[in-house]
Amino acid sequence: MTRIAVRRHPERGIYEREEIDAILDEAVFCHIGFVVDGQPFVIPTIHARVDDTLYLHGSPASRMLRELAGGVDVCVTATLLDGVVLARSVYKSSLNYRSAVVLGRARKVDDEEEKRLALEAVVEHVAPGRSQEARAPNVEELKATLVLALQIDEASAKMRSGPPKDFEHDLDLRIWAGVINLRQVAGEPETAERVPEDIAVPAYVGDYRRPSPNGAGSRAPGVNEGELSRALVEASAAGGERGVRAVHAAAAIRAFRDYRWVGIYEVRRDEITVLGWDGPGPPAHTRFPRAAGLCGAAVATRRTVIVGDVGADPRYLTTQTTTRSEIVVPVFAAGAPVGLIDVESEQPNAFTSADQQLLERCAALISPMWRSERTADDVDDTVEAAR
Ligand SMILES: Cc1cc2nc3c(=O)[nH]c(=O)nc-3n(C[C@H](O)[C@H](O)[C@H](O)COP(=O)(O)OP(=O)(O)OC[C@H]3O[C@@H](n4cnc5c(N)ncnc54)[C@H](O)[C@@H]3O)c2cc1C
Repeated sequence: MTRIAVRRHPERGIYEREEIDAILDEAVFCHIGFVVDGQPFVIPTIHARVDDTLYLHGSPASRMLRELAGGVDVCVTATLLDGVVLARSVYKSSLNYRSAVVLGRARKVDDEEEKRLALEAVVEHVAPGRSQEARAPNVEELKATLVLALQIDEASAKMRSGPPKDFEHDLDLRIWAGVINLRQVAGEPETAERVPEDIAVPAYVGDYRRPSPNGAGSRAPGVNEGELSRALVEASAAGGERGVRAVHAAAAIRAFRDYRWVGIYEVRRDEITVLGWDGPGPPAHTRFPRAAGLCGAAVATRRTVIVGDVGADPRYLTTQTTTRSEIVVPVFAAGAPVGLIDVESEQPNAFTSADQQLLERCAALISPMWRSERTADDVDDTVEAAR
């Protein structure tokens, strides 16, 4: 622990793997620090996480990768910039950020199956969905790629969020202060030459975005659906039982798009429990194991899950017999999945990327519900209270 203990602002140090993983997953690339003959180098490179392993890849000619394959000590750092914090004084000005540091020694991956999985993970890390479409590496290409694996055993994260923390004696100065929120957004895709005209831009390209916790200054774009946004902000900020607030939020989301059924769930250490819902009837399962169903899949992948035909998806836990399609959107607080928005329809293929974008914005807006008391264990009784 001593090597990874955050010393300056220790209260900003985070050692929970879920939070560290969220940063590693959102950052497209990292920096690798290592020493060769007493000379430190810090080199940018792509990484991909699979459970407890970070994979790196590149040319066997890369000095960096060759050195790392020799088992030298390595420091991997991934950083996300969330905002510029402008305090009234220069001294108190800062940045909002999330960063992760992993220490260890890498090993060369020789097993062909692991190598293929690692390269697929790299592709999926950079462009989720791409490995389904792009040609996989052939034997020669596989040989020409060096893959390294680093166990995530010793790791820390550090995070700053929120407004400037000015000195009390500066608060009355007539100077603007606040946060310029920053986020990474995709521009218009540019189609390469010789792509046949009848090949459309795939959804995973057109809708490209990094997996992102919906808090800490990294809000989803365009959060402004007027009444809905206000209703969700009010429901999230209101005091009282979280279950009651979840019922209000579910009702507001359902009314906005005339969805058939909307539920808001809480993600706990071992299980998922319903917090509140709005629709023609209660959910069949008010609590189920954390890994179960489409909800479990959204938690495990930390991504929105859209299923056009639930009957054909083995992960689906039957809720209402008339449900044909479903979308489940994770809600994050401080980088961890803490809740879910679940919307169900009687129509097959009812949900599009527009629903996904809307519901991800809703998830960002209701995230503060969990900020103060993350995954509290006091929720069991609130479902009853909420009804
Ligand atoms: C965002 C990003 C992602 C990348 N992802 C990968 C990846 O997944 N796999 C991979 O193999 N390479 C990746 N690269 C390239 C990587 O940074 C190295 O350039 C590459 O590994 C070549 O290493 P080398 O062993 O030839 O360089 P070295 O021999 O280690 O470097 C020799 C010298 O070249 C200079 N140098 C090397 N790389 C850079 C650089 N990026 N910027 C400035 N100066 C440099 C430095 O002065 C260094 O001391 C990435 C680069 C960027 C910016």
